Amino acid sequence: MARTPAASVPERVLDGQQAAAARLMRDLDDRVPEAIVALRELWPHTGRAYVIGLTGSPGSGKSTLCDGLIAWYRARGLRVGVVAVDPSSPFSGGAILGDRIRMQRHATDPGVFIRSLATRGHLGGLSRSSGDVVAVLDAMGYERILLETVGVGQDEVEVASLAHTSVVITVPGLGDDVQALKAGTLEIADLLVVNKADREGADRTVHDLESMLGLRQGQEPPPVFKTSASQGAGVAELGLALESRRERALGPDGEERRRRRSRVQLLDILRDRLTQETEARLASAGGIDALAVEIAARRIDPYAAAEKAMDALLAAPRSV
Ligand code: GDP
Repeated sequence: MARTPAASVPERVLDGQQAAAARLMRDLDDRVPEAIVALRELWPHTGRAYVIGLTGSPGSGKSTLCDGLIAWYRARGLRVGVVAVDPSSPFSGGAILGDRIRMQRHATDPGVFIRSLATRGHLGGLSRSSGDVVAVLDAMGYERILLETVGVGQDEVEVASLAHTSVVITVPGLGDDVQALKAGTLEIADLLVVNKADREGADRTVHDLESMLGLRQGQEPPPVFKTSASQGAGVAELGLALESRRERALGPDGEERRRRRSRVQLLDILRDRLTQETEARLASAGGIDALAVEIAARRIDPYAAAEKAMDALLAAPRSV
């Protein structure tokens, strides 16, 4: 009797097997070449999911809000993937555990897949990893993908740019927080949420945000929502607002943003590949680190070192 060949990784992932998907995500993170081949096979099955970014400082209630949105979407029969990018401490990994606990009621629901990515260990590859995880979830048929990030630093902003719609979360009573928002994350916000609206000062924060947003020239100010995620208040309104933007985000109007997102992804991969290749080419001469030693000792300037690396890169046939 002929043996049925074992299903390939992409087949198992497309079949919705979470264990196979989790393993693939881990291998992608480790840049295992077979995993990249599998991802490429999955690519034609992607492009259907609506990716929603949730950005806010630690403790603002992202996970709680995520949990509420998962429940809201599940009640509508939609499958939800979650990518939580954790600024985990190098010692405890506690943030990852925290996320899982807060969303645990969904852990046994096959219509929900939660994946945490730790920021530690990533040198600029965070948006690439997040993009890969989003692609796997998309191929698996998760119709909504919630991408949770702490909105600090370039890496984080790049991760947020993977979303079709970005929600920026703040809480009442942090005057400085509103100022901090101004500096960075506000530009990426399509919607703003003042969570913990059960606390004092929520209306004031909404007012502060709205007057600040009103000052922005030439742009329609993003709407501000009040939620009390831990009590489930305001989640439905936010869900409806997100859905009302979906068609626009996935349709022709979202084209420019999708191109920007693709550009970020491509540049990420290129940066990775070029660094890897340069390292390989310079290996016999001690790699990039050896050049760094020369620069630090002021025996060569950084531009000349880069020239040297470029010469090595362009000289011989590809090695990786
Ligand atoms: P994250 O770090 O942004 O993911 O925030 P969490 O979702 O972990 O929430 C941090 C803390 O705030 C937890 O103790 C939540 O129970 C609490 N929390 C979340 N939403 C609300 C809310 O609407 N009101 C109040 N009072 N507490 C909340």
